[in-house]
Amino acid sequence: MFGMAPKKSDNTKYYEILGVPKTASPEDLKKAYRKAAIKNHPDKGGDPEKFKELAQAYEVLSDPEKREIYDQYGEDALKEGMGGGGGGHSPFDIFESFFGGNPFGGGGSSRGGRRQRRGEDVIHPLKVSLEELYNGTSKKLSLSRNAICQKCNGKGSKSGASTKCSGCRGSGMKVSMRQLAPGMIQQMQHPCNECKGTGETINEKDRCPKCKGEKVVQEKKVLEVVVEKGMQNGQKITFPGEADEAPDTVTGDIVFVLQEKEHPKFKRKGDDLFFEHTLSLTEALCGFQFVLTHLDNRQLLIKSNPGEVVKPDQFKAINDEGMPMYQRPFMKGKLYIHFTVDFPDSLTPDQCKALEAVLPLKPVSMMTDMELDECEETTLHDVNIDEEMRRKQSQEAYDEDDDAHGGAQRVQCAQQ
Ligand SMILES: [Zn+2]
Ligand SMILES: [Zn+2]
Repeated sequence: MFGMAPKKSDNTKYYEILGVPKTASPEDLKKAYRKAAIKNHPDKGGDPEKFKELAQAYEVLSDPEKREIYDQYGEDALKEGMGGGGGGHSPFDIFESFFGGNPFGGGGSSRGGRRQRRGEDVIHPLKVSLEELYNGTSKKLSLSRNAICQKCNGKGSKSGASTKCSGCRGSGMKVSMRQLAPGMIQQMQHPCNECKGTGETINEKDRCPKCKGEKVVQEKKVLEVVVEKGMQNGQKITFPGEADEAPDTVTGDIVFVLQEKEHPKFKRKGDDLFFEHTLSLTEALCGFQFVLTHLDNRQLLIKSNPGEVVKPDQFKAINDEGMPMYQRPFMKGKLYIHFTVDFPDSLTPDQCKALEAVLPLKPVSMMTDMELDECEETTLHDVNIDEEMRRKQSQEAYDEDDDAHGGAQRVQCAQQ
């Protein structure tokens, strides 16, 4: 293949272009090329010819086989050897392949085909009532999104032809560089503004009449969101691939995130429901019954057991009347009822007599005047008990801590 008489041609030019000696290691070549290519990249205002030369030089010298041919026979031998087809890659291909197709941290590989990006997911909050989560529901929501133009199949042109964008030379990206300090350059990659990152432009006359070259059209779409029984606040309902479509892009998802609205009567904790009910003192003492309208409008009759007294702040539970469990709606949590007792503010002496006749008195109330004279008088004040208990609890925690310490010491002493 290289049997012809070697022309005595220049075999140092590539080394000179990269500014390395002929003995340069592959590492040296890489470093030299990286530096020079960034400096001379046309996006940075570099000379395109120089950039091309650099890429060509690097392409040859980075390939051990080609380098050997070049070293022995020079540039011309390589051209013949490459089979005359003009061979090789565009300097941009080399540049991108050198930087792993990801020169400055953005986008996917553009080698050997078009980019396959993943479109963004679109997230919508969806407010739902507790009734809806109890019974299940479905909601039809109308959304507008970008859809690939059907007339041009997302090409944007009538003929299907497009030309490489001149602004970014088809890469869809532009690189800008900023010198942070001498020798320190920050490179940033951003989508090309001329072609909106697509890398191509469409001749005005050839533009698709429907999408006007935009490749996508606005589309109204109705999605039916099925809220299943027992779903939770924050739970996601996903419609895969229903977000905005774009050419060469894997369409993202539309995701609805449930937001449980607060209910005026019921509170939910997981699969359980809590319901507040206030009893009069008479009901608490003598029994009660009331009708509770459930989240599915069933009327539950709630009543006390005969002779039972309900104390303030007491909880009672009804099994299987809580929330249905997600995907097992025949299973339900508990319905807890929290009782508050509404005490009368005052009683008349007659009412007290009547109560004293039926309710047991505490022994102290039956003391004689003589015995009472022995006691000291006190005054009762109103207090904010929550506040006082909180203060007391933190004090107790501190004391206990202290105690545990002392206890451990005592054990140690006993062992000695
Ligand atoms: Zn462009
Ligand atoms: Zn179109």
